[in-house]
Amino acid sequence: MNKLDTALVSAALQKAGFDLSDNVEKCDVVLINTCSVREHAEEKVFSHLGFLKHKKETNPNLLVGIIGCMAQRLGNELLEHKEVDIVCGPNQIPQIPELVKQVLKSKNKILTVTENIRQESPENPALEDFESVYDRADKRIPAQAYVRAMRGCNKFCSYCIVPYVRGPEVSRPPGKIIEQLKKLAGEGVKQVTLLGQTINSYKYTAGEKVYNLADILATASDIDEIEWIKFVTSYPTRKNYDKILQAMADLPKVCRYLHLPAQSGSDKILKAMNRKYTSQEYLELLEKARDTVPGIAIAGDFIVGFPSETEDDFEATVSLVKKARYKNCFVFKYSPRPGTIGDKKLQDNVPQQVKKKRNIELLAVQEKISDELSSQFLGKTVRVLVEGLSKKPHLNAEAGSDRPQLVGRTAADWIVVFNGPTSLAGEFAEVEITNTSPLTLFGKVEN
Ligand code: SAM
Ligand code: SF4
Repeated sequence: MNKLDTALVSAALQKAGFDLSDNVEKCDVVLINTCSVREHAEEKVFSHLGFLKHKKETNPNLLVGIIGCMAQRLGNELLEHKEVDIVCGPNQIPQIPELVKQVLKSKNKILTVTENIRQESPENPALEDFESVYDRADKRIPAQAYVRAMRGCNKFCSYCIVPYVRGPEVSRPPGKIIEQLKKLAGEGVKQVTLLGQTINSYKYTAGEKVYNLADILATASDIDEIEWIKFVTSYPTRKNYDKILQAMADLPKVCRYLHLPAQSGSDKILKAMNRKYTSQEYLELLEKARDTVPGIAIAGDFIVGFPSETEDDFEATVSLVKKARYKNCFVFKYSPRPGTIGDKKLQDNVPQQVKKKRNIELLAVQEKISDELSSQFLGKTVRVLVEGLSKKPHLNAEAGSDRPQLVGRTAADWIVVFNGPTSLAGEFAEVEITNTSPLTLFGKVEN
């Protein structure tokens, strides 16, 4: 979601005549798009602000803006930092080019956030226009784009800041989403990822018709140039589940990849988290997915060290991970977020060391499963949408040849690295897998 917002703001600034630079020494304006999900993300912003404060001492004209969730959460508190000139919430990002111009001229600080985020009107024409006008293929990952299907969240998981900074759940009109997909397809996009905090609760009523995510997937599949459609993130619920799984099974363009965070395997903790399912119900959802969509890859999220999580609770999570057999999962240490129910009512009573130990242990359990699943690809050929150079492009690259190490992903989201011509970036390639590690497949490509 933040990557999409950054792309939109970058495109809008370029349209307004600004040049983008990744060298702070050369910049007149620095904008930081922020995340509030965990304290650590916010700490990184504060440490970066310390660095920018120092820069401003030598370049007093440098303009510093904070945009996104932290801006919405902290508002004035951020503006009080001497080095901060603009504080702009996620719903106000369409104003960014104007705000920057204004502050460059007047040198006065500006704050713009939503006053009462939970009472925000569902219609937000400014955001809607901004989205359609500035959405474009991500230049850094050719042939791919994110498209927002929904904004906000209504789930109020007790640990989570998102509903308080992104506002209520709003589904975008299907016509707008499809129009945007067609535009992106025309610009060479081959893979789109539909975004929503709980994408499977997408619901849009137009007269008699109520559209759900399966409807969007079906219409998107009719766009010729779009070859792969992914969607994240899903909330574990039966509602619309069968329809969405059936769409994945029936529509070849819909990738067989489901990100379905469980958060915990302990029913006591799930209840305290305000997640509306038990571990058994969650496992039944996975079974249903595997029965309906053969070969589906599933990814999960977990929080360890939630208030009052005992060793037994943690063992229940380990047991769930073993049964779930995820392709991969993301594990986070509980981080109390001010203003959430978890922070107000529960004590962050699992010591940091215990959180760390559980985090490492759970990842180790998952690593073994990922290793078993990835090794099944050995000797097989997989279709990959190539993103570009890998993090270590020099690896296995013969001197003088134009075959650096490239990276791409399969439809089921497996990361694949191989050596090949850079011209493959943004193209599909057939890669024969010659080696595997838990999270990466290694292979070779013919062309
Ligand atoms: N909407 C998605 C969902 O419900 O699965 C994910 C939203 S959140 C941005 C991404 C992940 O961050 C969550 O799945 C959760 O595991 C983790 N997370 C959220 N709040 C957290 C907190 N206070 N401490 C630690 N991890 C947290
Ligand atoms: Fe946060 Fe829960 Fe909403 Fe996901 S579903 S964004 S974890 S409140």
